[in-house]
Amino acid sequence: MRRPVERTAKDLLATVYSHSRLSSYENCPRQFHYRYIEKRPVETESIEAFVGKRVHEVLERLHQFVDRGQVPSLGKVVARFRADWERHFDASRVLTVRAENPPASYLELGTRCLSNYYRRHYPFDHGETLSIEARVAFPLDPAGRYRIQGFVDRIVRAPDGAVEIHDYKTGRWVPSQAKLDSDRQLALYQLGFEARHGRDASVRLVWHFLQRDQVRVSTRTREQLDTLCGQTIALIDRIEAEREFAPKPSALCSWCEHNDVCPAMATTTAAAKAGAAPVPAPSAALTTATAPVPPAATRTPASTSTSTSSPARAPARELVRNPRPGPATGSAEAPPVESQLRLL
Ligand code: SF4
Repeated sequence: MRRPVERTAKDLLATVYSHSRLSSYENCPRQFHYRYIEKRPVETESIEAFVGKRVHEVLERLHQFVDRGQVPSLGKVVARFRADWERHFDASRVLTVRAENPPASYLELGTRCLSNYYRRHYPFDHGETLSIEARVAFPLDPAGRYRIQGFVDRIVRAPDGAVEIHDYKTGRWVPSQAKLDSDRQLALYQLGFEARHGRDASVRLVWHFLQRDQVRVSTRTREQLDTLCGQTIALIDRIEAEREFAPKPSALCSWCEHNDVCPAMATTTAAAKAGAAPVPAPSAALTTATAPVPPAATRTPASTSTSTSSPARAPARELVRNPRPGPATGSAEAPPVESQLRLL
């Protein structure tokens, strides 16, 4: 097995971490090595990542129009998404893990995400947008040794004066409230916002689970944020002390952009050829939009809702994953695939 490349002290000091970078290490140290240390070139992306990017771009544009006092129709929003899809989609570059699910099903999925968001939030008059796709960059420690950056989908001043940090998710998986209450990504963004603007405002963390038409909200105490700071510093220390970067096979290997060279996958392929049982598909499969989406019965401002869902609709068909031979060990947990969709 080829030993990962050693990093220099200069490399380490130059490193700025992000939630995606930290998650990549937690999910699989070898993948982290391929991405951030070897910087192995990648010319493909998963179709989930592709859909996520297109949906985020359209929502960014939608709110830019709203800020100028122009609310586009849902038809125009969807038309923009479909035009962007046509312009960017390249079948030789965008990988569909499960071959029997055609790209058109993902096009419908993105359309459904946007329709859900539009119908829930129209006419988009909840609060004042402070920034869209804003970069936050800040140190976790006074010496500036541990640096973090990220991009916040939208920051809003709510009618009650609170600041809301909004994040759009296109994956099917909606974590439990307990998981969201300990989520790292948006809490780091809160630290970034406070590093720049101070700690005067109360802050809410808001997730839009677009595919499932659900909005979830969480807040953090100062103590929780301090704990997060310490945990993140400890994780960075662990990463920087790492030398082996061992593969950590899981159900996510099918989406890994480096599974063509990963030694764990080579082992698994050999095992599969020898007749080993395949790893079950993860439970967080995407769904296709098989039914028209009815208008939301009520429009609930994110800041006043902790858990809201759309009216009942026709059941959606499950998409199953894992076309490649599965890894030697698989996770039974619903994988946060969406955490890999938008890499910084
Ligand atoms: S294929 Fe799996 S084990 Fe190998 S680097 Fe990717 S995520 Fe890690």
